[in-house]
Amino acid sequence: MWATVANATVAQPLQNASAPVDLKVGLNVVFEDDVERTCTPSYTDGRRSCACQVSERGFHVDRTATVDQPWLPMLTGSRLLTISLLAAVCVSPACSSTPRRPALASSGAASTPDDSRSGRAINADGNQVADGAPSTRDDGRLPRTATPLRYDLSLSIDPTQSTFRGTARIDVTLAEPTRHVVLHGRGLAIKEAFATVAASPALAASKRLATVTQRATAGARGGAIEELVLAFESPLPAGSATIELAYAAPFDDELSGLYRVKENATWYAFTHFEPTDARRAFPCFDEPEFKVPFTMHVTVPKGIRAFANSAEQRRVDDAQTTSFHFEPTKPIPTYLVALAIGDLDVKEVHRAAPPAIRIVTTKGRSEFGSLALEATSGLLDTLTEWTDFPYPFGKLDIVAVPEFAAGAMENPGLITFRDDLLLLDPRRASFSARRSQALVIAHELAHQWFGNLVTAAWWNDLWLNEGFAAWMESRAVDRWKPAFGARLDAAAAHLRVMNVDGLGSARAVRQPVVSSSDAGEAFDAITYTKGAATLTTIEQWIGEKTFQDAIRSYLRTNAFRSVHADALFRELDKASGKNVREMAATYLDSPGVPEVSTNALCNNKRVTGSSRWHVELGQQMWLPLGSNAKLDPSKTWTVPVCVRAAGQASLQCAELAQGAPAIVAGTAPSCPAWVHPNPTGSYYRFTPSDDELMHLARARKQLSVPERVSLLSNMWASVRAGKRSPAMLVRVLPLFDDDNERHVVAEIASILRDASDTLVEPQARPAFRAFVAERMKSRKKAIDWDASGSGSPSTARTPDEQSALMRPDVLGTLGDVADDPEVLKQAEIFAREWLADPARVDSNLALVAVPLASRRGESAHIAALAAAARTAPTREDRILALRAMGGFDSPAVLEQSLAYLLSDAVRPHEVRHVLGAALSRRASRAPTERWIRAHWDELRTKLPGSLSGSLVAGAQAACSSEEIREMNAFYTERAQHIEGAARRLAEALESASLCASLRSHGAAALTEALKPAPTIPRR
Ligand SMILES: [Zn+2]
Repeated sequence: MWATVANATVAQPLQNASAPVDLKVGLNVVFEDDVERTCTPSYTDGRRSCACQVSERGFHVDRTATVDQPWLPMLTGSRLLTISLLAAVCVSPACSSTPRRPALASSGAASTPDDSRSGRAINADGNQVADGAPSTRDDGRLPRTATPLRYDLSLSIDPTQSTFRGTARIDVTLAEPTRHVVLHGRGLAIKEAFATVAASPALAASKRLATVTQRATAGARGGAIEELVLAFESPLPAGSATIELAYAAPFDDELSGLYRVKENATWYAFTHFEPTDARRAFPCFDEPEFKVPFTMHVTVPKGIRAFANSAEQRRVDDAQTTSFHFEPTKPIPTYLVALAIGDLDVKEVHRAAPPAIRIVTTKGRSEFGSLALEATSGLLDTLTEWTDFPYPFGKLDIVAVPEFAAGAMENPGLITFRDDLLLLDPRRASFSARRSQALVIAHELAHQWFGNLVTAAWWNDLWLNEGFAAWMESRAVDRWKPAFGARLDAAAAHLRVMNVDGLGSARAVRQPVVSSSDAGEAFDAITYTKGAATLTTIEQWIGEKTFQDAIRSYLRTNAFRSVHADALFRELDKASGKNVREMAATYLDSPGVPEVSTNALCNNKRVTGSSRWHVELGQQMWLPLGSNAKLDPSKTWTVPVCVRAAGQASLQCAELAQGAPAIVAGTAPSCPAWVHPNPTGSYYRFTPSDDELMHLARARKQLSVPERVSLLSNMWASVRAGKRSPAMLVRVLPLFDDDNERHVVAEIASILRDASDTLVEPQARPAFRAFVAERMKSRKKAIDWDASGSGSPSTARTPDEQSALMRPDVLGTLGDVADDPEVLKQAEIFAREWLADPARVDSNLALVAVPLASRRGESAHIAALAAAARTAPTREDRILALRAMGGFDSPAVLEQSLAYLLSDAVRPHEVRHVLGAALSRRASRAPTERWIRAHWDELRTKLPGSLSGSLVAGAQAACSSEEIREMNAFYTERAQHIEGAARRLAEALESASLCASLRSHGAAALTEALKPAPTIPRR
């Protein structure tokens, strides 16, 4: 028999030991062969003692813990007692070895810096699992070894250097004694890691060194090393501890994590962490469930500034450096932590009420910040009023970042934006740029409530953040600047996302996320736009006021917490008395678009003077022609359907549930001439018969804007589904020729472009051009380049918002689809003037003219555009020049122009402007895609990591099985090596396959319909 070394955590009797306490003892023994046994009985009913026994292979550990005994090791928290190791007794004659010494070393014994294992080099081979460490989890989460309570980050950042240093101190709670703490870190060189066991009134804190191994998470594709496993010699006791890691890391080169940017010979550093890149900047528990305060200290070279999420508390100058100390933040998840560092300018807007709003820009650019400040101020007030919850995060800075992979990021207190979105010239900015700016600012501000105040606990519920922000942005902008027509734009976007959702490769809004790669893929149109469309459908179903009340309650109840979707549905169900949870699940948990069938019937009762009408409703899944998705009859939605009959202001509504048909009915003086099957813009498609469609189209003046847009969109969807002949385009679109409402014109332009891409045979092209020109003729008159018709910039009219926003659709369609020589000639005149001096041309005109002027451009035009990009006075001018570089029709000239992309003159994040423009047009799409393949390696070098993801979208240029095979052979293997590219490729190839099906099914019918009607000879 032998007894153990005594535990060395000496403790004093509890204060006021006679008071009842909740007692918890932890007994943790690690045996020689690494078998670990823990015993943690706890009594919460005021009992004053409890017993604990552990037996393993002949060893027996047995102790009774009593509140009053002085050896009770420590008091943690308010009333928790923790004993980490009491005694080990051999009770068997067979005992032949002893429990492993480290386990029996006292849990509180301090390691010293000269410990032979201290500061040991980190094994970064990534596959080594720390001795006995908890394994990785298949769901992509961290093993729950510790829960963070707060962070204290000290960073030393000099943007002129290639690396930075940091120390992360993280207060954690350990649920039970453990030898291991697992957290995230990617590409960090850990210099030292240790834990300080929480001090108690009785104990000095003790430092416990850890060895660190790095490993891949279970779900990680490509084996990305993202977890740090801290292994301690002996178990840390349950309760509070502080983990501290000192490290160095390179600045990131993929515009994520902490990265640096050079502008005008000056270096800056910025951050972008969502979804899982905070781990590239500091060791952390990088999951959105963990929301805790961050206190940041940033040391930078003297003369430059640092900004963080919270307000600067104090600044300390040293000989060479300045240290910025910031106030603790409100509880936030790691992905929302943000920094901006450099010789930055700051400008503040005057506001009557808090918060103060400042714009932070690179040197000398704050003069372009006034429009953004004005929009931020106005939209913030709008959102505060809608949510009935004051801005939650104290200070508010918006930051214009010169190189930025995303459009913007909602970091509380320090919202970052791509600078072209934020910095506009208040004298010259186009309405289109102002509108985009308002939308992106509204989106990021909406996140301050949806995502930042209440956070989705895991990435599978990302729609709680992004669907809401996308939904809210158009509401907020609509209230702030109705002229932008944002809510109607959103309704049109909800119709368009059905094309993505109808693909067999579409993902569900909510689906398992088990890796960083999965989390990255979730940031797509399905999460944002289908998420927003689902919220709109719920809102229409339960009523706007009820919806708003429920959301306000959701925000109040869950403020500063992370939640699952249940928290939202609880409020919606309660407020509405309906089963919103069940209804929403049919949209969120699987991909696909419901199609509602309508059969309108009417009984004309002339005697009574009124007619009774009804519409029989059914549902099925909408599928495009040639879809490889299975038509699953068991897949049904809960569809709230409303219809509007001719001459009636009120809607008749019903719910389609579980596949059962339903009926809506009404009475009218006579049988209604038409019934609109979706006046509320809910998430479903409908397919009226050709006759019903013609009735509705002829009655278009009685339809609202959303009703007209939805009618046109559904007509085109039924052509794409093979349920309607493309010949109907030729009958229906002319009925809308006198409709100059911008959203209607945009929908018509979109249909004409799609038809041009998919359905027009070469021999029908001239007739189709003439058809398109005819559709836009009267609209062109209304919004022509200039009032005098002289085509001179000096007589150009100053457009109102509507015509400015409509011009790209009308003149762009005429130039691109109808090849209208007059439009192209005028564009060239305006572009020449703009190239000489951008300020001489109204920006609203330039943004249409400059890209169109490239169509017939020669090589010399490339140099002119490159010069314009280089000397552009504003970001809007520069992007315009870049877009125009993707606009040449001649493949040879286009190829020369695209070569400019590979030069240093185009920044990585700007490549999208050129390629996006080139891939958006029929004439340049195929040559651009071929160019991407020919320069694949150079592009991959220019666009490291996931920045290359959009390159595979070129595969959508295919529209025949032969082309699709070619694309498959080139892209499929390559896409495997780019995060998020595999899904994009699958969608692009499927769209290409649908294009091929539609062409072979419908092109001949359109050709036939476009033939001039035979003239009847006169007698
Ligand atoms: Zn967002």
